[in-house]
Amino acid sequence: MERIITDNHMHLYNHLKLRALKQFRDAGGTHVFLVSLLSTHYEVFPKKGEDFKVIFDKHIKLVERANEIVRAFAVLAVHPAEITILGEKLGYTKAAEIMKDALEIAGKYVEKGKAVAIKSGRPHYRVSKEVWNLSNEVMEYAFSVAKQIGCAVQIHTESYSFRGMKEIAGIAKKAGLRQDKVVKHFSPPAVKEFEEIGLFPSVIAGNGNVINAAEEGDRFLVETDYIDDKNRPGAILGPKTVPKRIKELYEKGYEDIARKVCVENIEKVYGIEITDTE
Ligand SMILES: [Zn+2]
Repeated sequence: MERIITDNHMHLYNHLKLRALKQFRDAGGTHVFLVSLLSTHYEVFPKKGEDFKVIFDKHIKLVERANEIVRAFAVLAVHPAEITILGEKLGYTKAAEIMKDALEIAGKYVEKGKAVAIKSGRPHYRVSKEVWNLSNEVMEYAFSVAKQIGCAVQIHTESYSFRGMKEIAGIAKKAGLRQDKVVKHFSPPAVKEFEEIGLFPSVIAGNGNVINAAEEGDRFLVETDYIDDKNRPGAILGPKTVPKRIKELYEKGYEDIARKVCVENIEKVYGIEITDTE
């Protein structure tokens, strides 16, 4: 069987676009999770949840085209920063309401098989107590949508802290969602701590993180968070990074872990089957 190499979190925007996936493929990448961006990237200003449909439809079309290059899966995001973007104009309570409606709609796309997961979270920057509380409510809502459908939720949050993640794990529990269905995007290689917390880490593949993660265990995913923004061309990590780092795992004798990270963990978290692309 061909070597399967999966990037768990990548975007396509206005820089390399689909060419980024050709780079990924040529470096050995086979499977990718493409996450939709903030509404501002689509020049849409949602005034109601339904307005996110334009974004989701565009993203799904892009993922269809991506599938001609590698095996690509769609993740539909209602980015936590929407609370600020929408809230400044519409009020924060209204913004939260729109975000919840949009998450519910995203869930419907997952039910129809057009996407495999949704994305939520809470702001990574300082916000007022009101906005923080509303954000936690929105995230909890995302968890209950996921619980109903049986899908995973990628979360974009503040930087990792044991306490912060433990709190989020508690919110998932409250919503009845299995904690290993909550994928912490942009994770450090704290594999053991994540085992204790319950959330599933998606380790950002820079700075020796992948090897460091493998030294702690095999319960993790890997990602570049490649943004494909022409103003920040290499950010966060380039599209070839995950293939390079996974190959390194193979070279260093961690082939079982590489396989677990790219195939079995993905299958378990998302409830999908990872098959050979050939
Ligand atoms: Zn991202």
